Formats: sequence, structure tokens, C-alpha cells
Amino acid sequence: MEQQHKLQRELRELEQQIATLETSLEIKPNYGMGQGDPAVTQWELDQAMLERLQAHAAELRDALSRLELGTYGMCEGCGESIHPDRLAALPDTRLCVICARKQE
Ligand SMILES: [Zn+2]
Repeated sequence: MEQQHKLQRELRELEQQIATLETSLEIKPNYGMGQGDPAVTQWELDQAMLERLQAHAAELRDALSRLELGTYGMCEGCGESIHPDRLAALPDTRLCVICARKQE
């Protein structure tokens, strides 16, 4: 199934990025408590990035398990199938356009 391959590939790429980030985050720069220290700022940015990537990876894993269950592509809000164009753009979405708008 093409969608599954797409999700798995994206997840693999994400996991690589996460691993790389985790390695570089192991060394926390701690020279001085100086504010605006570029090394600390970069570390904090990387930390925030890592959290975003991990959240995205969790979404992708969730989408893959929904693929296995056969509920993938169904809107969790109204139970209708999500438009293929939307799934192509947002493979890990759980909501159709209408329900997504309502949630905002
Ligand atoms: Zn819906």
C-alpha cells in the first residue's frame, strides 16, 4: 500500500533526525549562565525542534497503526472518509477539512 510506504519512509527519516539531534543534545553547553549565549540558545532551539519531531513521529506511528486497523483515512470527527488530496498533503491527519476547521 503506497500510503503505508510513504508514512514509513517519513517515519524513518524522522527517526534519523531525532537520533542525530539527541546525540548533539547530550552535550549541554553550560559555560556561564550568560543570557543570549549563542551555544545555549542553539541548544534550546534544538531541544524545541526535537520535541516537535518526536510529536510528529508519534503522529506518524499512530497513522500507521490506523492503517493496519483499517480506520486510516476516516475522519475521527464525523466518520466520513477524508479526501485523498488532503491525505496526500497531510498523511497523518485524523480529521476531514470540515472537522479540522471546526476544531480551530
Ligand atoms: Zn469530519
